[in-house]
Amino acid sequence: MTGYNFACRGIGMDCGFEIRGASSKVEALEQVVSHAKHAHQMATIAPDLAKKVDAAIHP
Ligand SMILES: [Zn+2]
Repeated sequence: MTGYNFACRGIGMDCGFEIRGASSKVEALEQVVSHAKHAHQMATIAPDLAKKVDAAIHP
């Protein structure tokens, strides 16, 4: 399996959302932002959360 993976649990959220095999970190980030908006009612991602998300996206 290639690509970037992310799990909401990885940043301490009680949520089963996962991204598997995103083709780039940017693509994974876009999916996380979209998910955060819809599932977690986050209109914007705070800088400290963005840092956590960035650290939790692994190839
Ligand atoms: Zn989530």
